[in-house]
Amino acid sequence: MIDLHIHSTLSDGTLSPAEIMAVAGERGVKVLSITDHDTMAAYPEAVRLGLERGIEVLPGIEITAHHQQLSIHILGLGLQHESPALAKGLSSIQEARQERNRGIIAKLNGFHLGVTMADLPRGNGQTGRPHIARIMVQKGMVRNEQEAFAKYLRKDGAAYVQRQLLPVSQAMAMITAAGGVAILAHPGTLKLPEAALAALVRDLLGEGLAGVEVYHPMNSEKTLHFLLKLCHNFGLMATGGSDFHGREGDKAPLGECGGRRRVPAHLLSPLKTRLVETRGIDLQSVQPEKAPAPCNLQP
Ligand code: AMP
Ligand code: ZN
Ligand code: FE
Ligand code: FE
Repeated sequence: MIDLHIHSTLSDGTLSPAEIMAVAGERGVKVLSITDHDTMAAYPEAVRLGLERGIEVLPGIEITAHHQQLSIHILGLGLQHESPALAKGLSSIQEARQERNRGIIAKLNGFHLGVTMADLPRGNGQTGRPHIARIMVQKGMVRNEQEAFAKYLRKDGAAYVQRQLLPVSQAMAMITAAGGVAILAHPGTLKLPEAALAALVRDLLGEGLAGVEVYHPMNSEKTLHFLLKLCHNFGLMATGGSDFHGREGDKAPLGECGGRRRVPAHLLSPLKTRLVETRGIDLQSVQPEKAPAPCNLQP
């Protein structure tokens, strides 16, 4: 099994990279990417853990960016996680996040809710609204994280602050410059009509898009088939993942992409070929799974 979209505690997931590897081991996931939001803080530890446990780890990330009025998630897969340029780009994203966290906390203080920047987790991971929600629960300000979002943190919540986002072209350029491939994540969540989705993909193609996340729990069956056609027509790679956050209520467990469907393992070979071609690196040490995993989709 493979899974190319996973979140850890270094962003808004609830399992550490080591715990993710343990679950992957139990479930038979042989190749994975931890794609935390806006941070590579799971690396290089995740690669080391993978080597220890015989799981191939493709360094990855999920960056939120904007294209015109749309907020878009871009996955970067197969990144050189040690790239200084990538680290620099990501640290400016983290600065924008901290700026926004300060804004949210100031608004909460306006409601006499005493959350401080010192309450936020320290370390090099990403901090955002889920962490603020957790603190509010711990301090007894709300009963649970859902209530924190519903009252304060969601888009029209009382303490919401918009975050400064990178243009999608810049996010993709960062990924490509670090040797990775840029993938449009879960297009189904954009809720665009097919023609608009095709137009978006065409736009992004001109800016360095390498693929589309076809297999994802938030893509409907109809969208999935449309995206497969789109990939074929535009010569884009298809990828897939669970978007696992380690929480109850996740739409799919590790290695699956909704409806008990496995992330098709045959997606890996074109991805690796592309990475080898663009980077001239040796990814051959770990062979892709021999037989493609069953994909219980009707053609
Ligand atoms: P941020 O990156 O700080 O804007 O936070 C976004 C994250 O907050 C998402 O990835 C989810 O994990 C979480 N989130 C967003 N909306 C909600 C909600 N209504 N209830 C619970 N968690 C949410
Ligand atoms: Zn997330
Ligand atoms: Fe996403
Ligand atoms: Fe995600």
